Amino acid sequence: MKQTQHKLETILSQALQEDKLSTEDIIFLLSLDNADQINKLFAAAKSLRRKYFGDKIFLYGFIYASTYCRNDCRFCYFRRSNTESQRYRKAKPEIVTAAHRLAESGVHLIDLTMGEDPALYNSDGAGFERLNDLVDSIRRATGRPIMVSPGVIPDHVLSRLAETGASWYACYQETHRRNLFNQLRPGQDFDLRLETKINAHHLGLLIEEGLLCGVGETAGDIAHSIDVMHQLDADQVRVMNFVPQPGTPMAKRTPPDPRREMLISAVMRLAFQDRLIPASLDVDGLAGLKRRLAAGANVVTSIVPPGEGLAGVAQHSLDIEDGRRTNASVLKVLDKCSLRPATNEEYQNWIRCRRQAITNRESDREVAC
Ligand code: SF4
Repeated sequence: MKQTQHKLETILSQALQEDKLSTEDIIFLLSLDNADQINKLFAAAKSLRRKYFGDKIFLYGFIYASTYCRNDCRFCYFRRSNTESQRYRKAKPEIVTAAHRLAESGVHLIDLTMGEDPALYNSDGAGFERLNDLVDSIRRATGRPIMVSPGVIPDHVLSRLAETGASWYACYQETHRRNLFNQLRPGQDFDLRLETKINAHHLGLLIEEGLLCGVGETAGDIAHSIDVMHQLDADQVRVMNFVPQPGTPMAKRTPPDPRREMLISAVMRLAFQDRLIPASLDVDGLAGLKRRLAAGANVVTSIVPPGEGLAGVAQHSLDIEDGRRTNASVLKVLDKCSLRPATNEEYQNWIRCRRQAITNRESDREVAC
């Protein structure tokens, strides 16, 4: 116990001095099961958030525009073969209206997500053109930065989206172990998924990378994911606990300990000190927000407007229609945690700084955000 305590204090103190965590450090931190020790890790994560972001929290509105998907990921409710999932494809006016409502409510970014909808991938390119037009319309209607999450798309489409004004491309590998990836995402190309993110970064889009925990990974696999995320120089990194989905091959799998996501998130804050780490409402709804913020997250994601018939991803209905996934509900939690929503200017300034840092990366010039 004493030895563990000493090792923990050494790792935390080195992290607070911005030393890089080793694989062994990460595995050690993920093995913590003593409440006092876990609280020390969370305190270090919060202290680093404060150092880089003060009391500011960024807020992301979420629009799941189409629940059709050509893929068959074993963990996903919206997998192609799940006959139990509800399918919809929202029309442009509905999406723009929802985005406008979200912007009016005070979110800093519109996250436009969809499955790999076959309608996107038709051979004449009209599907991608509609996506581009949608991004353009949302940008004009809201004035907010936009994150697009349409799955793996060709480089020329990414390039068009960047030109049109998308700021972010989110595409989660979920695991960076090829074997596990092949089990979770059958028939999909591990390398292509990674390369698309690298290319998106080269095209000037910020990128979000993510992992799913409780799907058969080891602590060593998570350390490996963190290493790959470093190599990607990801601007936002997320972890989410696996939620068993009805109608899928993993429906009966026992979900991980709820603390697992928080532990990994806090380790991510130590490993990616000046980057964005989301606290998603998509796993435990509003009830889980406080503990995610306590683990060092600095973005609240999956804010969904009620009354628009929109779904979440891991929790497709939790807290949505009763209005608990709104900005107003989130602000009350922030207040209780002595945190505050950033201004739009602060968020857009962070984006500008990150883009500048990426531009300067090759000449190794530092940019303070
Ligand atoms: S995780 Fe994404 S790509 Fe996989 S089935 Fe679900 S919506 Fe499709």
